Amino acid sequence: MTQTLDQRLRQRICPNCVRRTRDGGCSLPADRPCSLFANLDEIVEIVRETRSKRIDPYVDTLRHRVCDACHFQNDHGRCPCREDVDCALDTYYPLIVEEIERYLNL
Ligand code: SF4
Ligand code: SF4
Repeated sequence: MTQTLDQRLRQRICPNCVRRTRDGGCSLPADRPCSLFANLDEIVEIVRETRSKRIDPYVDTLRHRVCDACHFQNDHGRCPCREDVDCALDTYYPLIVEEIERYLNL
């Protein structure tokens, strides 16, 4: 059976995440969807459209296309989740980009 990208990311990212619980769940409250899986389609497009050996261009595009639209980020571009290392998308972004590139055979 071919694994979906969602499944691959759940296997690679969730076990390392600070929000992972002992029983294999996620401690995010029900009204706070995971930034990685809630924005997965947009993140895949960013990875498709960006070509660089450096992570910076991927981060810049993430800030413009995802963070600027995220209600956690304030008008000054600051995000308490990012500053508290409590956004899995931001914390594990290099691993996420790598996994998506692998999945897309880029
Ligand atoms: S916050 Fe996201 S990446 Fe972290 S355990 Fe929950 S679902 Fe997985
Ligand atoms: S770093 Fe902050 S603004 Fe960006 S996706 Fe995560 S929670 Fe939202």
